[in-house]
Amino acid sequence: MEKQQALKILSDLIAIPSINDQEAQVADYIAQLFADYPAQVQRVRYAPGRDNLVVTIGEKGPLLGFSGHEDVVAVDSNKDWDYPPFSATIKDGKLYGRGASDMKSGLAAMIVAMLDLLNNGQPLAGRIRLLASVGEETGEYGAAQLTQAGYASDLQGLVIGEPTDLQVRVTHKGVIDYKLESLGKSVHSSQPDLGKNAILPLIEFVHQAQIVLAADNQVDSTLGKLTHVISQIQGGSQINTVPAHAWLTGNIRTIPAYSNELVMQQLDKIVQQLNASGAQLKITYSYPEPPLPTQAHTRLAQLASHVLQEQFHLSGNLTAGVGATDASEYHQVQNLPIIIVGPADGTTDHQPNEYVTVAKYLRGCQFYQALAQAFWQEF
Ligand SMILES: [Zn+2]
Repeated sequence: MEKQQALKILSDLIAIPSINDQEAQVADYIAQLFADYPAQVQRVRYAPGRDNLVVTIGEKGPLLGFSGHEDVVAVDSNKDWDYPPFSATIKDGKLYGRGASDMKSGLAAMIVAMLDLLNNGQPLAGRIRLLASVGEETGEYGAAQLTQAGYASDLQGLVIGEPTDLQVRVTHKGVIDYKLESLGKSVHSSQPDLGKNAILPLIEFVHQAQIVLAADNQVDSTLGKLTHVISQIQGGSQINTVPAHAWLTGNIRTIPAYSNELVMQQLDKIVQQLNASGAQLKITYSYPEPPLPTQAHTRLAQLASHVLQEQFHLSGNLTAGVGATDASEYHQVQNLPIIIVGPADGTTDHQPNEYVTVAKYLRGCQFYQALAQAFWQEF
């Protein structure tokens, strides 16, 4: 494909402000790109205006998955941007726009690779299935839906196009976000015994949670230790009133050796014990995402590394990440090797003036194509 056309596909995607609820427009756009080709295009609706899209090309042979999310994070203020966030601007070899890095460049490069393979004029030696998902940024629920519906079940390998600067990310931490609410009874602070202070059980919870989570000495050789941050706390209404309501939120980054389930069990137990002694606490979790255990040993990771070294003269380094991806969901498919390789370097994700270099993006297009061909030969 001509460079200009490959850049146009990325630019068109950036022009769709798919901030976590308008992914159907992205799905429409991708579907239309494949309309004139022998491709199986399936729309999987998550909610009105929110469609995942599954595009499968090839008739038979090894099936490689490509995964990219359609949503982007919001823009705080256009004023922070030197270029309009929802219109791609190329300047000094960089393409700017919301999603340029995370991860419309990865998604676009996968699409370009598939179209190039279809345009080669030769029958495909295998198959590719693109899984374009909704809601990655807020809980990976598009990937969860596609996993449950079986769209990843027959894949023999999966590449996620999140930004890695064309290195091979083989493992990442998981995440648990939780909110803890506490109810008390409000009275004048001159007679606290008549009321119930909603803040005190939160303090006790934090104290115990820090001890319990630190007591597990599991350390992952590449990801390090679990981390736990109390990120928000609020309660009370005025200085001379015993607070009737208080809450806090926490963010935990988990490692494979210390499962999300175990962490949540331990937090639940602290809550139960505090409630048994008079507190009124309720803990809720939003979209916990398991970590991705290392894929370094898989043939897919080795193959991607080899292709990057031999065909692109890049390092092919196997790396680790701290942020969760759609891999947290797809990893539920038994024995599915998953790697994360994307063209952007990720340094401007979720920031103003997000960009990908034009050269890296175009190289990403070529890499996905080369990887698919190598995969079809090797698997
Ligand atoms: Zn992303």
